Amino acid sequence: MTDLTELGVKAIRDGVAAGDFTAREVAEAFNAAVDAAAALNAFIVTTPDHALAAADAIDARRAAGEPLGKMAGVPIGMKDLFATRGVQTTAASHILEGFVPEYESTVSQNLWNAGAGMLGKLNLDQFAMGSSNETSYFGNVSSPWQKAGSNAAMSPGGSSGGSSAAVAARIAPAATGTDTGGSIRQPAAFTGISGIKPTYGRCSRWGVVAFASSLDQAGPMARDVTDCAIMLEAMAGFDPKDATSLDLPVPEWEAGLDPDLKGKRVGIPREYRQDGTDDEIIASWEQGKAWLRDAGAEIVDISLPHTKYALPAYYIIAPAEASSNLARYDGVRYGLRELPEGAGLQDMYAATRAAGFGDEVKRRVLIGTYVLSAGFYDAYYTQAQKVRALVAQDFARAFEQCDVILAPTTPTASFPLGSLNEDPLTMYLNDVFAVPASLAGLPAMSVPAGLNRDGLPLGLQVIGRPFDEQSVLNASLAIEQRVGFAAKPDRWWQS
Ligand code: GLN
Repeated sequence: MTDLTELGVKAIRDGVAAGDFTAREVAEAFNAAVDAAAALNAFIVTTPDHALAAADAIDARRAAGEPLGKMAGVPIGMKDLFATRGVQTTAASHILEGFVPEYESTVSQNLWNAGAGMLGKLNLDQFAMGSSNETSYFGNVSSPWQKAGSNAAMSPGGSSGGSSAAVAARIAPAATGTDTGGSIRQPAAFTGISGIKPTYGRCSRWGVVAFASSLDQAGPMARDVTDCAIMLEAMAGFDPKDATSLDLPVPEWEAGLDPDLKGKRVGIPREYRQDGTDDEIIASWEQGKAWLRDAGAEIVDISLPHTKYALPAYYIIAPAEASSNLARYDGVRYGLRELPEGAGLQDMYAATRAAGFGDEVKRRVLIGTYVLSAGFYDAYYTQAQKVRALVAQDFARAFEQCDVILAPTTPTASFPLGSLNEDPLTMYLNDVFAVPASLAGLPAMSVPAGLNRDGLPLGLQVIGRPFDEQSVLNASLAIEQRVGFAAKPDRWWQS
């Protein structure tokens, strides 16, 4: 019999529907794989019973001849940023340790309604702040990938590093991610999987622990483009509980998949050729152009002149919003409370936040309060908002000349855990190619582009017009078909 953990979303859904295997068999296989991969530290908590109960419900529906949902029988990993009723939700922070929500996030509820089950809550950078999954209170996540000839632990990327590690290690067929400034795309690129951040507003933010509300977007991370299309359809949709939710029907992205790019124009932004970008990344970008040309597309040069200001603007806007969003963790309403002997209210706030937030979170709160302070608001925050508008305008102009944009996802492949910790600016540079699309709210996807000379995965990024996830998925599919990415990490974590 096939090893069920080798199957992705579509293969599981179709196999369950056809009766090739039961949803329970799938859930049992993945639950066992999760247990055997504890060394990766991908999960903060596991929920095998949730996966089994969802599977049994699907098997019963099938036996009764009832219709099955888009994700029927597929057990997934849930980034621990989504509130899950009755299951601890921490955002990988100490301050939320032990917080068990009374409610379910809209995105996770949509997935359960579509027939998915939950293997557990996935580790991440604390409050989704980070690019390496080293800021979690619950420990680093190790990438399943290692450099050829080395057993140094590598970063799975961040902040959705538990998600990327779990999917790449085949202990989950798919996982949810969130992307504020690259946190779906960069971890996908580092681990040889696919992930799409849809247009801002496609997926409800209701019940997602907020980092930077004007940027946060949920999306799927899976082994291939088709699986991402299926899962995004299940996740997306208008939600009256989120004021920024898009009131638009969810397109049938899976049915619309078409790798024939005849008549499509692919823009190559000249400003993305930046110093510090690895030669092999530039080479894979060139290769990507050739693949898309082969798929029928015309390649055009475009300019996104404000690119170099995007990252600094992001690192003002995101911390500003974070400092405001994180004000709610005060020791009164959620999770941790530190109440030193004789402490007053202010002392309790300070002690709780000092003990509950990690260093990176504190750094962001400090930056955020600084740039929002009366004396500096105009100099930093207002300026950053203007830059954001210019970045969005660059894209709008570029999309008069092309249908999608092709770029690298990251300037380098994965790096060893611990190697960038002392240097926040180098860490922030990981997102230099991801952040512009985030500021502009555009759909953007990373797909595997092959392995570098060290045997580590590289990703290519496709960026699209607002609401045009379909073109992003289709160009990504054209790349996927030409890359034929079949490499898998050695299962060192099982020994
Ligand atoms: N790495 C970026 C940051 O630390 C992006 C994080 C994200 O997208 N959640 O802010």
